Amino acid sequence: MALVPEKGTHDGAAGEAVREAVARARAAQSSWAALSYAQRAARLKKAGRYLASHIDEITETIHRENGKLRMDALAAELLPAVLAFSYYSKRGRKFLAPRKLRGGSLLMFNKQSILVKKPWGVVGIISPWNYPFAIPFSEAVMALLAGNAVILKTASVTPGAGRAIAGIFGAADLPEGLFTHVEIPGAKAGPAFISGGVDKLFFTGSTATGKEIMALAASRLLPLVLELGGADAAIIRGDADLDRAALGVLWSGFSNAGQSCGGAQRILVHRDVYRPFLEKLCALVRNFRAGEGEDSDFGPMTTVKQKEAVEKQIAACLAMGAKIAAQSAAPGPGVSFPAERFIPATVLTDLGPETPLMTDEIFGPVVGVCPVQDDDEALRIANSSSYGLTGSVWSKDRRRAREIAARMNAGAVMVNDHLMSHGLAETPWGGFGDSGLGKTHGEAGFAEMLKTTVVVDDALPGTRRNLWWHPYSEEVFRGIRAAAVFAAASPLSKKLRAVPTLLKIFFRYWKKE
Ligand code: NAD
Repeated sequence: MALVPEKGTHDGAAGEAVREAVARARAAQSSWAALSYAQRAARLKKAGRYLASHIDEITETIHRENGKLRMDALAAELLPAVLAFSYYSKRGRKFLAPRKLRGGSLLMFNKQSILVKKPWGVVGIISPWNYPFAIPFSEAVMALLAGNAVILKTASVTPGAGRAIAGIFGAADLPEGLFTHVEIPGAKAGPAFISGGVDKLFFTGSTATGKEIMALAASRLLPLVLELGGADAAIIRGDADLDRAALGVLWSGFSNAGQSCGGAQRILVHRDVYRPFLEKLCALVRNFRAGEGEDSDFGPMTTVKQKEAVEKQIAACLAMGAKIAAQSAAPGPGVSFPAERFIPATVLTDLGPETPLMTDEIFGPVVGVCPVQDDDEALRIANSSSYGLTGSVWSKDRRRAREIAARMNAGAVMVNDHLMSHGLAETPWGGFGDSGLGKTHGEAGFAEMLKTTVVVDDALPGTRRNLWWHPYSEEVFRGIRAAAVFAAASPLSKKLRAVPTLLKIFFRYWKKE
């Protein structure tokens, strides 16, 4: 592991650490990529076994370091990580397999095309503190199975999660230097990774940092995947199961102390069920137990800085006329985390379109509930955000709910659920607009770990030339024009009229000229 001290680091130390790690990774990657998929998966198996036997220890590390409850660490970090490891190990071979393309036109019958997938080389991963383990772990698994080397930087407040991941891959049979966890300050990470020579960068974090990284990456045209913030809408229809909807909003909005990029934030409720839904949600929130043990519902914020940022956002909402409809109580005695890291779970109402909760991401346990007239108004408000990460539709009419879901401007929309698709290894994850670019997870996420070369070849052996090659002549010109007419014209009778002219040049394939 390359260690660079947070304090006293001179500008070049982070860059030097990444450059060194990239050089070692590049040396290791060529032999790793030369192995068959089965060999790579077999060598990584020990990592899976190590993970399985260290679940409790890693859960505890995440709990102590991030503050999230052990339950949240288990359900939303360890379990998805185990599922991802198993899914990608089994399915990666298929995702990597070369694929023959179906011909696009009869006219091009002599060409066959095959897509060949190759690793990028050295992949950089920069990850946030809110899911410090599951996010980088599943990305690293995909990257390694695909034949890449990995340089990982976890957030500076959660280095233990990165060390845990290094421990897991350290247990596998990997070439020296193939995986490196670097501990460098966030502010230095962008320039360090981009000038350090990684071949592709996967960044998960805030929209502001994502934009900075994109600007830096432009200098090298470095390929990026950016998984950024969100301000998700949940649409509660008049026919929804309100108990389930309230529980679902509670879990996705407030678990992990509300520090989930894909948590419900803007709750848009059909007018006829607004009051009963709000009452149910508020009753749940008033009973929501802050603490740290297994009988608590949510824990402290990860940092005092983040708690203060959320407090400021709530104050800004209140200053614009928002009202607090319900709040949870402070934690009881005997909690070992500092009291100033706790913030009550909060439900806000009376929100206008310009209220910060409706326009910005609030990265804490705060949701806003707004009445809407109908599905169209709900969709208009949902889609008015600059973010487009995830969303949800709550309704007993599942067909209608799926139609509305498909019209939401978000990368993942759940029906009668929210946020949980991040834990499904098979579903792509990644948003639009200020929520970022590209995908992680699923086949689409695995594809981001690969670059594709298309190999185009003749279907017939022994042809001398293409129809459109030199020498040009009036006859060749007319023949190619006939080909265009054949491809474009309808009905069939018009197409057929072009055939005799086309046939005049057809034998050029084999003719000596
Ligand atoms: P952040 O942008 O401050 O930091 C993310 C990572 O980038 C950390 O490792 C940090 O050390 C590093 N970093 C900080 N400044 C950097 C810079 N200038 N160049 C390069 N790296 C830098 O974000 P955060 O506060 O750690 O995370 C919270 C944000 O992440 C929220 O906005 C949340 O929505 C988002 N997030 C998104 C997803 C997703 O899948 N879309 C998942 C989790 C979190």
